[in-house]
Amino acid sequence: MAAVQLSGIFKRYGDTQVVHGIDLHIDDGEFVVLVGPSGCGKSTLMRMVAGLEEISGGDLMIGGTRANTLAPQQRNISMVFQSYALYPHLTVYDNIAFGPRIRKESSAKFKPRIDAAAKMLNLGGYLDRLPRALSGGQRQRVAMGRAVVREPSLFLFDEPLSNLDAKLRVQMRTEIKALHQRLKNTVIYVTHDQIEAMTMADRIVVMNAGRIEQIGRPLELYDRPANLFVASFLGSPSMNFVEGVIVNRTQGQGLALKLADGGEVALEGAPESAVVGAKITLGVRPEHIEITTQIPDAALDVEVVEPTGAETHLYGTIGGSSWCVTTRERSKIEPGQRVALRLPAECIHLFDTESGRRLV
Ligand code: ADP
Repeated sequence: MAAVQLSGIFKRYGDTQVVHGIDLHIDDGEFVVLVGPSGCGKSTLMRMVAGLEEISGGDLMIGGTRANTLAPQQRNISMVFQSYALYPHLTVYDNIAFGPRIRKESSAKFKPRIDAAAKMLNLGGYLDRLPRALSGGQRQRVAMGRAVVREPSLFLFDEPLSNLDAKLRVQMRTEIKALHQRLKNTVIYVTHDQIEAMTMADRIVVMNAGRIEQIGRPLELYDRPANLFVASFLGSPSMNFVEGVIVNRTQGQGLALKLADGGEVALEGAPESAVVGAKITLGVRPEHIEITTQIPDAALDVEVVEPTGAETHLYGTIGGSSWCVTTRERSKIEPGQRVALRLPAECIHLFDTESGRRLV
């Protein structure tokens, strides 16, 4: 088991800096997911922790030991890749036993560990098979089995589910989480899939362009995103936004957001930093918007109606911005209709348009 501490970690390729001073503490036994768009530096950061990529600056501590210059095999970590990296000519058993054999462990010592891993991962009936006779999910389990028998203090997963179909991805997500709950090891898991991050992580680290945007528990980030980037990255369909300027309400008391098309959205309970004249971006999640027959906060011109079965997504525009409203009612709303909406005050997020930061 190991806590991991990254202090001011950066990475340069020649003159180009791609990771810009990452500070991150991961507790012993914690499941931390690094998430962010393609190219934001997740894999580079993970590979620096693994020892597969040189660290250009900063300190990496694993289990209290400075690990910057330790060889990968000295770091007591196991890594599971997207590509599984199984040996095609070796059986499942021999693939899993490969590491212990290389380390010249006796089979009496490693066999019980392999049997336990195979049982845990439901591979007991497949130990004599070659990888080509396995499904994608089974291959991924073999890769995990190989990682598990090392009994590492730290597991690294680099987009391990990207090659699987949607149904299997959901199943393996649950299996990896169950595995972690049983082994209670420290995990760093890289993905670009925000649903994986939300469902698996103890804490999520949202990265963008080589920097951390926000760190927190999944629902903390979902409920109180620190900036526009995090707000738009987490959630599917994603949060709706519309820009405007804070004004005094033309009817009634308090503040409102005046939109480009002249519409006004009442801002009840706006924070003190929302002052008249400020350029603000209002955000609200599709599932928090209510369809109303009362005096509306906003009106959606519906363009597309998308039923998924459990819920229906209404797509349209508000103040020139594309919006989505998710309703669990089986609605009879048709494209071309204008729908009156209530935006509950407690579900509204306000951001400074220029800096993107959340108003507090
Ligand atoms: P992610 O895993 O988030 O998709 P990466 O860590 O793979 O992102 O890449 C981060 C950035 O570093 C990208 O802009 C990528 O082009 C760049 N990069 C990665 N590897 C190299 C390399 N060997 N040489 C130069 N640039 C690289």
